[in-house]
Amino acid sequence: MSGHRIVVLGGGTGGTMVANRLRRRFGTDEAEIHVVDRDDAHVYQPGLLFVPFGLAQPEEIVRPRRRQLRSGIVFHEQEVAEVWIERDEVLLGDGTVLPYDVLVVATGTRLQPEETEGLGGAGWDERVFTFYTPESAAALRSALERFEGGRLVVNFVDLPIKCPVAPLEFAFLADWYLRERGIRERVELVYATPLDGAFTQPVASEHLAGLLGRKQIELVTEFNTGSVDGAKGELASYDGRMLEFDLLVTVPLHGGAAYVERSPGLGDALGFVQTDKHTLQSPARPNVFALGDATDLPISKAGSVTHFEAEILTENVVRHLAGRELVPGYDGHANCFIETGFGKALLIDFNYETEPLPGRFPTAAGPLSLLRESRLNHLGKLLFQSVYWHALLPGRELPGLGPTMPTAGKHILTPTT
Ligand SMILES: Cc1cc2nc3c(=O)[nH]c(=O)nc-3n(C[C@H](O)[C@H](O)[C@H](O)COP(=O)(O)OP(=O)(O)OC[C@H]3O[C@@H](n4cnc5c(N)ncnc54)[C@H](O)[C@@H]3O)c2cc1C
Repeated sequence: MSGHRIVVLGGGTGGTMVANRLRRRFGTDEAEIHVVDRDDAHVYQPGLLFVPFGLAQPEEIVRPRRRQLRSGIVFHEQEVAEVWIERDEVLLGDGTVLPYDVLVVATGTRLQPEETEGLGGAGWDERVFTFYTPESAAALRSALERFEGGRLVVNFVDLPIKCPVAPLEFAFLADWYLRERGIRERVELVYATPLDGAFTQPVASEHLAGLLGRKQIELVTEFNTGSVDGAKGELASYDGRMLEFDLLVTVPLHGGAAYVERSPGLGDALGFVQTDKHTLQSPARPNVFALGDATDLPISKAGSVTHFEAEILTENVVRHLAGRELVPGYDGHANCFIETGFGKALLIDFNYETEPLPGRFPTAAGPLSLLRESRLNHLGKLLFQSVYWHALLPGRELPGLGPTMPTAGKHILTPTT
């Protein structure tokens, strides 16, 4: 192999999509493509939501990373230790130094339970759980099976987290699961959030709060978690409020990958990589790009975002290497199915400028309804796993789904003059 040398850090959703897309764009004589990840287990993370309810088995949502990469991509199963952007080099855990012409950062986020007093200590994986790792999601499944009633509190410590709607989905599914088991009336279900409403944006927040109310899930807002006592079953906020629990399902704080903090000039104090919101190039260096959860962009950390960014990032890496102007083509497009239980789901679609609004998707006559529960949305969510493995990761185009948010089906109010 010869030509350009492209190094992709992270072989998760974003790294795999970008490496495969770049492999399609460049012949093996035109570019070497390297992917680095610390392990060989690619988890379909949206599937983690279903594990605690017995709706997915952990082994069904994990595949070898190597096998998701097209032939002609070199995979390094190694920890990224440091990046030296001044020298265009990456240091791996085993001491190997990888030089690059273009670097793509796709190392996602790191869960930081240790940042919250008591989290990860007493009661962890006994009465305090997260469904954000395969291990804790599996332990939570057994705990839910044993649960016979009491207070079940669902919360997240603070934003940013991956898929910010996932804790809400967990609460909705818990309501369904407890009703199926016939013990719902014996359970007080509480959703505690640091936000001032059920979600970040006003229209979606109102819809989701309504849904929580209809399902008799108590909404506790502006609850900034200060500490957790797993032994006593107490969740305390910084402003002195306390929530008792028999079972706590929490999402710990998220930071960027630790090596980002060790790599001068690459990221901010939280370990997220500064990234141009439209081109996905890093302001630190023209040959450094980032996508997915690893960026500091003001949009949800979601697989859909990562997918839309991958299209623009790939195009811009090609343009950068050809000395051409970059395309500012990413508008912050994000969408997410929100599972609401009983075989239904909502869909939200938004971007940097437009909040989630009601309407149809992807066009005015589209089959999916926005911000309204439907069976079709639920089927869409279930089908997505297959789309993920067979179309998204290999880098295939999905017609009608791209980096620009569709507006045709949305009830967008335009001011009259
Ligand atoms: C419970 C849950 C439910 C979700 N549901 C949805 C959903 O319904 N819809 C949706 O769009 N999104 C959802 N997401 C979010 C989605 O999975 C992520 O946003 C997406 O995977 C981000 O891709 P990424 O490539 O940025 O990061 P990842 O896919 O997490 O990949 C990062 C990779 O970097 C590697 N890495 C990190 N640090 C190092 C290091 N130092 N050295 C070597 N390797 C390293 C990791 O091993 C990992 O493989 C969900 C996430 C969770 C946890």
